[in-house]
Amino acid sequence: MLEVLIYVVVGLLTILVPALYWLRERRKSEKAATTLKKAIELGLDEPVSLHPVIDPNTCIGSGACVRACPEQDVLGLINNRGALINPSRCIGHGMCHAACPVEAISLVFGTEKRGVDIPHLKGTFETNVAGVYIAGELGGMGLIRNAMTQGIQAAQFIAKSLDEKKRAEKVLDLVIVGAGPAGLGAALAARTEKINFAIVDQEDLGGTVLTYPRRKLVMTRPVDLPIYGKLKLREVQKEKLLELFSEIFSVADLKVHAGQKVETVEKTNGHFTVTTAQGETFEAKRVLLAIGRRGSPRKLGCPGEKASKVAYRMLNPEKYHDLNILVVGGGDSAVEAAVALSDVEGNTVHLSYRRDRIFRIKEGNKDRLDKAVESGKIELILLSEVKEILDDAVILDKAGETVTLPNDQVFIFAGGELPTAFLERVGVQFTRKFGES
Ligand SMILES: Cc1cc2nc3c(=O)[nH]c(=O)nc-3n(C[C@H](O)[C@H](O)[C@H](O)COP(=O)(O)OP(=O)(O)OC[C@H]3O[C@@H](n4cnc5c(N)ncnc54)[C@H](O)[C@@H]3O)c2cc1C
Repeated sequence: MLEVLIYVVVGLLTILVPALYWLRERRKSEKAATTLKKAIELGLDEPVSLHPVIDPNTCIGSGACVRACPEQDVLGLINNRGALINPSRCIGHGMCHAACPVEAISLVFGTEKRGVDIPHLKGTFETNVAGVYIAGELGGMGLIRNAMTQGIQAAQFIAKSLDEKKRAEKVLDLVIVGAGPAGLGAALAARTEKINFAIVDQEDLGGTVLTYPRRKLVMTRPVDLPIYGKLKLREVQKEKLLELFSEIFSVADLKVHAGQKVETVEKTNGHFTVTTAQGETFEAKRVLLAIGRRGSPRKLGCPGEKASKVAYRMLNPEKYHDLNILVVGGGDSAVEAAVALSDVEGNTVHLSYRRDRIFRIKEGNKDRLDKAVESGKIELILLSEVKEILDDAVILDKAGETVTLPNDQVFIFAGGELPTAFLERVGVQFTRKFGES
């Protein structure tokens, strides 16, 4: 009798355990497929930079890539095969590639539909334009640590290329364009190499990190920085990382020429003239472009846009209270800003978008926006365009009708202009990659 019972239990376990495992995996696969479907529906299916392509014929469904990815819900298993389920959220950590036990993953730039421009660089980071160098994500090397390391190396190569005896000339040795991780690394190395240089940014110190969602947990790896020493970081909140960048800059006694968008880099009389949209010029023997890939905020081009109350980024909503605010745009950044500002006491928030509906945004943002509109915290003005920004008002065209709103502050989130046109103006050659490594 006991023997029979043992056989029954063992038999049941033999069927039950795999069945439960199969069910759990099936549920995970369905969840991953739903995430991918939503990403496609929302138009979030194009990765921005380096990303994995998984060969389904080689993949054995081990799930090692999913476990290795530091970002949540970016990779998943669909029908027992690895898949990029949230493509636009992939930031190119590349850990999936290293973790795959059967080498089914290649890391590539661009997709069949969307090309990514990768500049031609020498081993010294110099471009085809003698004296113009590129470091960081613009050159195809994303991630904070990589960009910092490249910035350091590029500045060291630049120092070697300069004639020591001529360092005291009036012309700068180097202008670093971009104060993100690559620019920061370059500036520290330039200081150690006793190069006479300036660092310029259209925004401020921090680069893309400034634009991360609030309190984002940043994953990185330790890196040796000139002057500061070892930066022992693995996981750090965005705000803490930005504080640390400021501390590093103050330890090294460095300052960014902030709010200066470089528009032209021209070679005259043997050196470069770097000119910003704000009218500053820098004369330098070398130029390092560390401008990343996110580009510059797109302007509306309407009268009044140069007013100081107009901003293209919103970091601390608490700073803006008891104000009439206009947010322009229909993407995640615009919606997140409008919702955050509508939660601050005393604000009246209008969200203006040129299309007839808001789509292509994250589900959570859509829900928060719907609730804020329903409760009257945000007034959504669709099919509208800003015609003019005045001192105390804004004028919109709403489907042919003129609407005037009282206004103290305008935030514009109209997307970005990619750096391609700028690179072309400088004369830098690049290759457009469509899903190639
Ligand atoms: C949402 C998100 C999350 C991420 N999370 C992580 C993470 O957890 N870990 C990680 O390692 N990486 C992460 N990354 C990637 C990382 O932020 C980038 O790879 C890194 O910032 C690249 O550094 P960079 O210095 O090359 O360029 P950027 O950081 O992009 O800096 C470029 C700078 O150049 C300036 N600039 C651009 N054009 C001009 C111009 N014409 N004139 C003057 N200045 C100009 C910009 O204002 C900017 O400050 C994330 C990226 C995103 C978008």
